Amino acid sequence: MFWQMEQETLKRAKLEALQLKRLKQTLKRVYDNVPFYKKEFTKCKVKPASLKSLIDIEKFPFTTREDLQANYPDGLLACGREDIVRLHTSSGTTGKPKAVFFTKADLDNSANLIARCLVATGCTKHDILQNMMSYGLFTGGLVMHYGAEKLGMLIIPSAVGNTDRQIMLMKDFGTTTLHLTPSYALYLASHFEAKGINPAKDLKLKRAFMGAEPYTEETRIRLESSMGIEVFNSYGLTEMNGPGVAFECTEKNGMHIWEDNFLVEIVNPETGKQLPDGEYGELVLTTINREGMPIIRYRTRDITAIDPIRCSCGRTHVRIKRIHGRADDMFIIRGVNIYPQQIEQVLMSVNGVGKNYQIVLESSEDMTIKVEFSKGYFDGNLDNLKSLRGTLVEKLKAAILVRPKVELAEPGTLPVSEGKSKRVIDNRRVY
Ligand code: ADP
Ligand code: ZN
Repeated sequence: MFWQMEQETLKRAKLEALQLKRLKQTLKRVYDNVPFYKKEFTKCKVKPASLKSLIDIEKFPFTTREDLQANYPDGLLACGREDIVRLHTSSGTTGKPKAVFFTKADLDNSANLIARCLVATGCTKHDILQNMMSYGLFTGGLVMHYGAEKLGMLIIPSAVGNTDRQIMLMKDFGTTTLHLTPSYALYLASHFEAKGINPAKDLKLKRAFMGAEPYTEETRIRLESSMGIEVFNSYGLTEMNGPGVAFECTEKNGMHIWEDNFLVEIVNPETGKQLPDGEYGELVLTTINREGMPIIRYRTRDITAIDPIRCSCGRTHVRIKRIHGRADDMFIIRGVNIYPQQIEQVLMSVNGVGKNYQIVLESSEDMTIKVEFSKGYFDGNLDNLKSLRGTLVEKLKAAILVRPKVELAEPGTLPVSEGKSKRVIDNRRVY
């Protein structure tokens, strides 16, 4: 099933021809209307006409998060203020917010991209979506909302928090589909356990879309089995409309990225040079179908790789692999580069580990991993906990090459965030 079959299954040559046409239009639009881009293009000695084919994009300058912040609030607008109908800002996980503006056409387009994603996971107008993301400036609420509405689903705008009420809504209205962060999903799963709710029996849930923050395949597997649902990875960022940039289809083998709207590059984060398909690097995106605020070669800081192999679902748009994390998430302990996802991968694969954890960086030499054990694991025998701790230390050492301290905590005792989680607590002293 497709939402916009023709666009989603365009033959490669046609798709690239469309990309080239749209990219040329976009370059001209920003050069003519956005003084920042005129200046940047001039610095790089390029004009819109310098682009003859898609590979010429490498000649054009990047746009960084700092550029967006420096042009805050509306320095990157490519149309008149009167044509803007909506504003969103990033959630601000990494500093000052970045504002993004939408025209009516941009909103309609973003809703269509979401509808494509939802249909790709098997949703129809008979499904009921409970949107457990924050409504407001954050795109996860409204952008998803209007996309689901476009498809004709019943949408319950329950937003984040009040888990008991969320469960009541699921029961009363027969929710089939959830949209939430993986960290909140882990909390929800342990809440089900604590309240003796068996989702497979007591609820009508079929699937959940999870994104807005990195999570591992191990976490997906756990959530699928404990909630009896299918979990689809959903990737987006405010700068590129929010959700709906890339989404898994029912094959669940990476996320299709809508190439008729975004030109995709993977670059070496240090040199900025393009990398071949299959190699991990930083995702760089150019909007090629946006009126209000087009962005050229945006450095997302997200680390992933392109999988160009045709997906058996029939969609021709390439897939990106699960996001390894942000370039900025990485921290260094004893000279070793570590991503939080490497730790999560180990934790979630060990039996006896519960659903919440925290990484506390103590110094350049030491870190402590606080992790809940699962409900029912501790039967009063302290040896169980000791052996769990020992297993974790060894497995972590093998995965990250540094021996961390591990502290076990009772289920439900580590802090939970309803929006994006804060997994890493950095107590290292800054000199
Ligand atoms: P902020 O940059 O303030 O967090 P956003 O809400 O726009 O604001 O967050 C977008 C970022 O969230 C992405 O750049 C990426 O780092 C992360 N993200 C979104 N979806 C996923 C996903 N499915 N997997 C991993 N990371 C994700
Ligand atoms: Zn597919």
